[in-house]
Amino acid sequence: MRKITLIIIHCSATPEGRNLDFEACHYEHVHHRRFKDIGYHFYITRDGDIHRGRPIEQIGAHCKDHNAHSIGVCYEGGLSADGVPKDTRTMKQKGAMLALLRELRAIVPKALIVGHHDLNPLKACPCFNAVKEFKGI
Ligand SMILES: [Zn+2]
Repeated sequence: MRKITLIIIHCSATPEGRNLDFEACHYEHVHHRRFKDIGYHFYITRDGDIHRGRPIEQIGAHCKDHNAHSIGVCYEGGLSADGVPKDTRTMKQKGAMLALLRELRAIVPKALIVGHHDLNPLKACPCFNAVKEFKGI
């Protein structure tokens, strides 16, 4: 297993009222961005389903300069209907994210849980304060 020091939370930057399901995200990453696979390790859709992307043993493609030592978790959403950054997580997404992070905690107990924004302040992603919200996990 590679060394993992960070669990990085993302949003898909999908506006409210629109969908980007797992298959669509996968398609975009492989066919438009030319990744070999979806960039994230986990993708949480609005219905609360947790989709497995890349195996965590493999390096993802989700956060410049931090991919080698991190796990990427993304939720579907992150923008208001008119495109402004917004925490659009549904209750099901919040519950699923919490459960997933608790599971990951057991696998990588020392990894810090951060938002993409914490590593790159130019990004609003994931549009909520992940450090604050998950500091107790
Ligand atoms: Zn991001």
